[in-house]
Amino acid sequence: MNAFNPAQEIQNLQFFGEFGGVNPSIEDSSTYTFLQAKKMSELFEKEIEGCYLYSRHMNPTNRYLSQALAKMEGTESALVTASGMSAITCTLLQLCSAGDAVISSRMVYGGTYAFLKNVAPRFGITTTFIDMRNPALIEKAITENTKVVYCETVSNPLLEVTDLKAVSAICRKHNLKLVVDNTFTPLIVSPAQFGADVIIHSLTKFINGTSDTVAGAICASHEFTHRLTDVNSGAVMLLGPVMDSLRAASVLKNLHSLPVRMVKHSVNARYLAGKLHAAGIRVIYPGLEGHPQYNLLKQMHHPEFGYGGMMVMDVGTTEKAFAVMEEMQRQNVGYLAVSLGFYKTLFSSPGGSTSSEIPEEERHAMGMSDGLIRMSVGLDHDPEVAFHKIMACLKTVESR
Ligand SMILES: *Cc1c(COP(=O)(O)O)cnc(C)c1O
Repeated sequence: MNAFNPAQEIQNLQFFGEFGGVNPSIEDSSTYTFLQAKKMSELFEKEIEGCYLYSRHMNPTNRYLSQALAKMEGTESALVTASGMSAITCTLLQLCSAGDAVISSRMVYGGTYAFLKNVAPRFGITTTFIDMRNPALIEKAITENTKVVYCETVSNPLLEVTDLKAVSAICRKHNLKLVVDNTFTPLIVSPAQFGADVIIHSLTKFINGTSDTVAGAICASHEFTHRLTDVNSGAVMLLGPVMDSLRAASVLKNLHSLPVRMVKHSVNARYLAGKLHAAGIRVIYPGLEGHPQYNLLKQMHHPEFGYGGMMVMDVGTTEKAFAVMEEMQRQNVGYLAVSLGFYKTLFSSPGGSTSSEIPEEERHAMGMSDGLIRMSVGLDHDPEVAFHKIMACLKTVESR
C-alpha cells in the first residue's frame, strides 16, 4: 500500500486570502448577512455552496482547516471542534442512541475511557472493553445492539498497535462503524486506507504542535459530517463545541510544518528508545524490533514518517518515576507536563495522571506498571544530548 501520500495531500492545498494573501482570510464573524430573506430559510433546510448562516454551524476559516484535515486523512470530509474530547463524544453520541452498545479497546485515552464507562451509560449506551490486540475478541463481544467499534491506532499510554485492517474487516462483516483515534500517529498511519469510518484527532497534540490551544477534529464521509452539523439533530451543532475561527487559522498555519516535525519527532524518539534499551533500561517503543507489534506497524505506516514521537520508560516504582521526572526537568531534558507533540520533550507518569481514570487493578492487568514515564520526544536538534542527560538523571536518583 502507501500510494496515498498524506503529506503531499497537504502540500497540494492552495488557499488564497481575500486580497491574494498567501494565507486564507480569517472570517471573524459569528453570523452572516443575506441579501434575500428567502435564502436564509433555504439554508436551514439544506447546505448551499458558499453560503454561511451562523459560525456554530460552519465558519469559512474552520472549513479551510477541516478541508486540509480531510485531505490529510484521505476522507471525503472533516469537521473541527473545540477539543479532542468533544470530537470523541459528539461522534459517539451521533452514532449511538439509548439501547446501543460500543465495543472499545480497553486501552484508550483516560478521558475516552471515563466517558464510555461513567457518562455514556447515563444515556443508555453501554460499552464492552476488550484487548484490541486480539481482534477475534470483537466477534465474541458483538450483540444485536452493537453499533460501534472504538480504538486508537497506537494506544495511550502503552503504545499497543491496532491491526486496523483486521478490525475493519470484522466491522464490515457485521455492519459496525469503526471509529479510530489517530492522535498519536498523524501522517504516520492513515486509518481510512484500512477501512476506518471515522478518524478522530486531538489537534492539541502533534497537529497543532505548539501546546497553545485545545482543539479536535472528526474526519469522515460527507454524509456523517452533514449529520453532525444538522440543525435539528447534529451532535456538533447542538452540543456546540465550536472552534474559534482565529484559532482555526492558527492551527492551519501550524499544520503545514507537521510533515517536517513528525519526521524529527520519530527520528529522535527512535534514537532515544534504542539507546536507552541498549543501556539496559526497559522501554516501550513500537519502532524497536522487540516491540510485539513492530512488524504490524511496519506494514501499516508511511515509512518516511517513522514510528512516532511517543515512547515509554519503566523505572520500576512510582517514587522513582516521580524523582526521575523531577530531575529530568531540572536538567532541562524537557518539562514535567501531560500532553504531547510539543517542541520540548514532555513527560508524565500515566498512572498518576492521564490514565488515572482507569482503576488501579485494571491498569495493572493491562501491564501498566507504576514506574512508567511516558515521554513525548521533542524536536531536539541533537537527541544524544538528551540521552546522556537522562542517563545522568537515572544515576543521580539511584545514588540517593
Ligand atoms: C489528548 C487526547 C485526547 C483528548 O483531546 P483534548 O484535545 O485534550 O480534548 C483524546 N485522545 C488522545 C489519544 C489524546 O492524547
